[in-house]
Amino acid sequence: MALFTKQEALDYHSQGHKGKTEVIPVKPCKTQKQLSLAYSPGVAQPCLEIEKDPALAYEYTGKGNLVGVLSNGTAVLGLGNIGAQAGKPVMEGKGVLFKTFADIDVFDINLATEDPEEFIRCAKLMEPTFGAINLEDIKAPECFMIEDRLKEEMNIPVFHDDQHGTAIISGAGMLNALKLTGKKPEDLKVVVSGAGAAASACTKFYISMGVRKENVFMFDSRGLIHAGRTNLTPQKQFFAQSKDFGSMSEVIKGADMFLGLSVKGILTQDMVSSMAENPIIFACANPDPEITYDEAKAASPNCIMGTGRSDFPNQINNVLGFPSIFRGALDTRATAINEEMKIAAAQALADLAQTDVPDNVKKVYGKDDMSFGYDYVIPSAFDDRVVEWVASAVAQAAMDTGVATISLDIEEYKKSLRA
Ligand code: NAP
Ligand code: MG
Repeated sequence: MALFTKQEALDYHSQGHKGKTEVIPVKPCKTQKQLSLAYSPGVAQPCLEIEKDPALAYEYTGKGNLVGVLSNGTAVLGLGNIGAQAGKPVMEGKGVLFKTFADIDVFDINLATEDPEEFIRCAKLMEPTFGAINLEDIKAPECFMIEDRLKEEMNIPVFHDDQHGTAIISGAGMLNALKLTGKKPEDLKVVVSGAGAAASACTKFYISMGVRKENVFMFDSRGLIHAGRTNLTPQKQFFAQSKDFGSMSEVIKGADMFLGLSVKGILTQDMVSSMAENPIIFACANPDPEITYDEAKAASPNCIMGTGRSDFPNQINNVLGFPSIFRGALDTRATAINEEMKIAAAQALADLAQTDVPDNVKKVYGKDDMSFGYDYVIPSAFDDRVVEWVASAVAQAAMDTGVATISLDIEEYKKSLRA
């Protein structure tokens, strides 16, 4: 049953203050003196200090807690290319999540262009404003090029959440699934349905965690991606198998893992039954997965099943990741979010799921018996410890890999994040 009506969704956005966010001054401006401190002439003092040392922008402006959520509206949720204006409610929503879960401020920047060069130029020009950039809902393959270039050409973190957020959360689930089943990443045979933004990022992330590329079989809307196919994009070429091993129902026999980031209903119960013992099935097409939880469990009762849905176990929900990942990156004034920081985030989420499930989480789901296991390999977004665990792991990794520009006492930092 739907949680809300269409009218409720529209009213939520239009009633009272229009939209979902506003800008609030954090310094008093009520007296003559305060007015001249907030603006001319007092404001000239921090300007001159920053002119001498640009890093002081983190001291005298909001840069260090401000993320730019940048989108051109070409791949919005499951709605497709609805344009930058129509995508604005989603980008404002992202701001609500950043603020609610990690106290990070967001300006949503909705750019009316489908030209990657124009997008890149706009983003680069905004570097003085932001402490980090979250790219959002930009279609493949442009999203790959835009992110690669911005990472190369900017000195603040640039992170495309639709790609890496999903990779980190599902990667955490994979780590725990391996722990529970005693399997090793290098032995996994993985079938991937989908070859878009999310599927390629997730698969690359699993490879960086030890999965062997030759054991990955990736399918797009035309079948297995293999060397015999013509006109493959460079992103698909990367995953090409040496030859055509056949349809998904043939290739999936004996596979240890299925990752779906494609469309509803692709995975059949027969396919699931033909997989290895204790298969990992992350069927993430939204809102309807490649196979439902009940169908997968009926076909293989010992499967570890995750979806993008909140009404079934193991929700692969990006909100578990991006707020805390940016928190850790901003607090170390990092110049990038690198692979090590992403792996640290996945490991922290995996570790958190192994601890006792907090009572408030059990209450949300109405279950007394929730604990680490096949139906709890990914922690809940309602677990208040997520920010402390993930942001501190990301900050530590930023310091260890030299992208942090300031050093934190990590125990003090953890304390400061405690809810
Ligand atoms: P995308 O870039 O448009 O990619 C979709 C991919 O699915 C394309 O590679 C497409 O093939 C492929 N595809 C379409 N029909 C197929 C079929 N019959 N068999 C196999 N592959 C097929 O989209 P995306 O952003 O990666 O997202 C994909 C899906 O994952 C969406 O449903 C999205 O909502 C979901 N998602 C969920 C989460 C989450 O739960 N946390 C996060 C991100 C995305 P072609 O390349 O041939 O067109
Ligand atoms: Mg998105």
